[in-house]
Amino acid sequence: RFELTGKSVYVAGHRGMVGSALVREDVRLVTVDRREVDLCDQAAVFDWFAKVRPQVIFLAAAKVGGILANDTLRAEFIYDNIAIAANVIHAAHLNGAEKLMFLGSSCIYPKLASQPLREDSMLTGPLEPTNEPYAIAKIAGIKMAEAYRSQYRCDFISVMPTNLYGPGDNYHPEYSHVVAALIRRFHEAKIADANTVAVWGTGTPRREFLYVDDMADACVHLMKSYSGAELINIGTGEDITIAEFARVVADVIGYRGEISFDTSRPDGTPRKLLDVSRLARLGWRASTSLEDGIRRAYEAYLAGALVPAR
Ligand code: GDP
Repeated sequence: RFELTGKSVYVAGHRGMVGSALVREDVRLVTVDRREVDLCDQAAVFDWFAKVRPQVIFLAAAKVGGILANDTLRAEFIYDNIAIAANVIHAAHLNGAEKLMFLGSSCIYPKLASQPLREDSMLTGPLEPTNEPYAIAKIAGIKMAEAYRSQYRCDFISVMPTNLYGPGDNYHPEYSHVVAALIRRFHEAKIADANTVAVWGTGTPRREFLYVDDMADACVHLMKSYSGAELINIGTGEDITIAEFARVVADVIGYRGEISFDTSRPDGTPRKLLDVSRLARLGWRASTSLEDGIRRAYEAYLAGALVPAR
């Protein structure tokens, strides 16, 4: 068992949704502001690591977004994410970090891989085109962690979260993920007494959603208990259609109007459900129900609604 107590633990991306949930996990932390160290800037990252020498690293920094952001900002998604992974992983190695966890994404799996998605299906087929640049950058990070483990004996591990949501999510009307998008749209419709809300796509794609505090808890659990080259999926093991999901969000928010589907918007990959049997064997499972998670995310959204969206 790997202990975190007494060690300097660095959360890269501590202002992001996952990073801020890790900060809530109450481990003793080192963080550094983006204005001070831009993780895409190799020299700045190397200098900071040489000075601070964190012993444990959660690499939760990334440029992320929903289906439209991924498909539109294709160059930024591949450049920023490759740069962040390359700089932080290499700096961790150069400065003798004891352990590093790289956060990947379920979109690294082939578009048509058999479901639920097993860890060993990575690189067995073509990716979903809308998020291919992001997925390629994440696959590069995973392969780096693996290569540094085999060549330099670094204890670097990789985890693959499913679609995450919760406090600290990005509520941009076009570029957010579906959970944040629908919380905002149903809330605004409720306030405006509107009687129809459009959901993107056909409503038939299936997605799995994990509350971000569960994700942070799983990360800490795996950091302490897992060491190996194999990827570990992190999810609930259950999925739901976007149409059913929209109903759940509408109910939590108290929107009573109609829901329509805008098929001029993309569906993305038809299904994305993770096989979580490896995670279960390692002794972890999700504990927050979808309704509870959406309720808490909505409360956080209301509390932050006066702050402009990032
Ligand atoms: P994905 O899992 O990478 O496709 O990421 P998203 O969270 O952006 O989208 C998940 C699914 O929700 C896709 O099938 C979208 O078409 C659908 N969806 C429905 N309404 C929305 C919306 O308002 N915003 C986004 N981003 N997706 C939506």
